[in-house]
Amino acid sequence: MSSTQTHHDVDVVVVGAGFAGLAMLRELRDERGMSVRVLEAGDDVGGVWYWNRYPGARCDVDSTDYSYTFSPELDEEWNWSERYATQPEILRYVHHVAERFDLRRDVTTGARVATATWDDDTAHWDVTCEDGTTARGRYLVMATGCLSAVKRPQVEGMEDFTGQVLHTADWPREPVDLAGKRVGVIGTGSSGIQVIPRIAPEVAELVVFQRTPAFSVPAHHQVLSDAERAALKLSLPERREMLRNSPTGLSVPVTRRGALDDDDAAREQHYEEQWHSAGFGFLLAYNDLLISHEANRTASDFIRGKIAERVTDPALAEKLSPHTYPYGAKRPCVDTGYYETFNRENVTLVDIAAAPLTRATATTLETADAAYDLDVIVFATGFDAMTGSLLKPTITGRDGVTLQEHWAGGPLTYLGLMTAGFPNMFVIAGPGSPSLLGNVMVSIEQHVDWVSALLVDSEAAGTPVIEATEEAERAWVDRVNAAAAPTLYMEAASYYLGAEIEGKPRVFMPYAGGLRRYRRECDEVAREGYRGFRRSPEPSTDLQPA
Ligand code: NAP
Repeated sequence: MSSTQTHHDVDVVVVGAGFAGLAMLRELRDERGMSVRVLEAGDDVGGVWYWNRYPGARCDVDSTDYSYTFSPELDEEWNWSERYATQPEILRYVHHVAERFDLRRDVTTGARVATATWDDDTAHWDVTCEDGTTARGRYLVMATGCLSAVKRPQVEGMEDFTGQVLHTADWPREPVDLAGKRVGVIGTGSSGIQVIPRIAPEVAELVVFQRTPAFSVPAHHQVLSDAERAALKLSLPERREMLRNSPTGLSVPVTRRGALDDDDAAREQHYEEQWHSAGFGFLLAYNDLLISHEANRTASDFIRGKIAERVTDPALAEKLSPHTYPYGAKRPCVDTGYYETFNRENVTLVDIAAAPLTRATATTLETADAAYDLDVIVFATGFDAMTGSLLKPTITGRDGVTLQEHWAGGPLTYLGLMTAGFPNMFVIAGPGSPSLLGNVMVSIEQHVDWVSALLVDSEAAGTPVIEATEEAERAWVDRVNAAAAPTLYMEAASYYLGAEIEGKPRVFMPYAGGLRRYRRECDEVAREGYRGFRRSPEPSTDLQPA
């Protein structure tokens, strides 16, 4: 399907063929009658689920809630096998959707976008790809995902390492044989926490290089029985309504009381119950865990207590226990046997906050204290999150201003959907919207519906050039900051805040006011004739170059 030197003239150019790009394609093409070309860097569709194929990769949102909702037939025919789907199963689902709705014919794979340039005279976006593919469209939709620009930390001497170097977010498509090898894993975020327990039993030695310990609670994966699946399908309409109207997009009931509303015994019992069932939803055990230090401390202490129970060596348990930020201020993790993995004889934890990594040699990875002989090094170091994939290509808007220039101090958006000076360019589930703070599938579908409706409305009104005004953008950025300011999110060096990349502007990027409030705001803006957007007719054809 990959094509070179091909040009596509369409209504809408979509960048990225993950969940968002495919949903955008289907909606605009099949429901709104527009022509669409999707440009995808990977060799196949799937986005984050195409790239992140490391052992143990799976979603930590219930499969039923991490599915498209546009087709009852799709719901009927697709059967998730587990409560939380594995990466291969999610990729099978994406492939099924792509085939079922004949999406691949409008996707060009192997086409990494290099530039996108707004032509003010003709009101079009011109897009070029590294492989020579070009596309021209009246609208540009960036469906590139918040977690797709891979972060590869520089370690001195890494080029001398003669073993295998892998990254969880760019895992080879062919099987990787780790059996009997000495493997080092750098990073203990969600990816590290999934890959570590999965590979520990098969490798000879596993050395985990931890800079910041994570808070992790048991995932409680389970295979779904036929009866459970049937019950889930029956409850779908109700469940989806709940997701759409929830602040998180998760099917976890929001507890309507604070942690200190319960006495110690009741709170302990409540946490215990949540620990044994909630998975990712543990963060919603009380409604003030992300706004009150005192409340948060009860949850943080509870989790640290559990780590101490799960790890037999108390000194090791302490090393694995986070103390430098509140629970939930960084994206919380869920695990299957993560902490217990450190009870194994063949697993070593290296605290690289105490003794930083210094260099790699042909056969070792070294810290300030010691050298570790390794055959394989796995980077589980995450992403240049939220803005990385948007700032990688050169996107040039009105008056030759690039997105890199406009966002030099951090992402500026109106509703997370558009940015002033970049007419007809939309971002799906990116900075300025709830995106990573909730179930991203719910966010994606909300954006896809909203953007599609706007395009249809604009076309019908004869005003197909749309742009966020500077005032609306300024006001929205203030709203995003105001929503985050009273939360404990501000107290961790997280990727929400741009702290994962040195030199990245430290601004809180997602909208923390909740999905429900955000959806209402977007709907209100639409009802008020797209308040905050400037809309104008397309330039007359005599302006177009000969
Ligand atoms: P991450 O959460 O950003 O974690 C990266 C890890 O690498 C952190 O422990 C970080 O330590 C460490 N690290 C980064 N740079 C380093 C350096 N130069 N030296 C040493 N250590 C370094 O990345 P991730 O684990 O790939 O997860 C990213 C996101 O993807 C998750 O938050 C989640 O949203 C998503 N995800 C979801 C699932 C799931 O659904 N279950 C699974 C995987 C990923 P510091 O904290 O000290 O920076």
